[in-house]
Amino acid sequence: MGYDDNNIFAKILRGEIPCKKVYEDEHALAFHDINPQAPTHVLVIPKGKYVSMVDFAAQATPAEQAGFLRAVGKTASALGLDAGGYRILANHGANAHQEVPHFHVHIFGGKRLGPMLSGGAQPRG
Ligand code: AMP
Repeated sequence: MGYDDNNIFAKILRGEIPCKKVYEDEHALAFHDINPQAPTHVLVIPKGKYVSMVDFAAQATPAEQAGFLRAVGKTASALGLDAGGYRILANHGANAHQEVPHFHVHIFGGKRLGPMLSGGAQPRG
């Protein structure tokens, strides 16, 4: 799947749509999720045009990958989540219900998050 320049995160990166910014550097932008699923719910996106985890892992340069991972850690620290703990999550594709086709990592925190997955394990069918 090719990268869609009109996806919502591309528009945020271009400044065409506002966001509640938490952190930004040359590799990444972090902002609050518009529909938070926890007291703290922030998205971290790379600045490059990568559709998902598969694309980012295969195509991004080592500097982009390292810079992005560092930005995720810096964002969580900036949010004050290190001591209490937090969860990171990235959805890839249909089974994971990825909605926005620009690679992103969710950071959840601010409460006890409970078991890792909601909805339970479904048999493959
Ligand atoms: P995913 O299902 O992993 O693709 O998650 C996409 C996330 O983007 C969802 O949690 C949405 O609430 C969030 N989202 C969609 N549009 C915006 C926006 N304009 N600003 C911030 N978050 C958004």
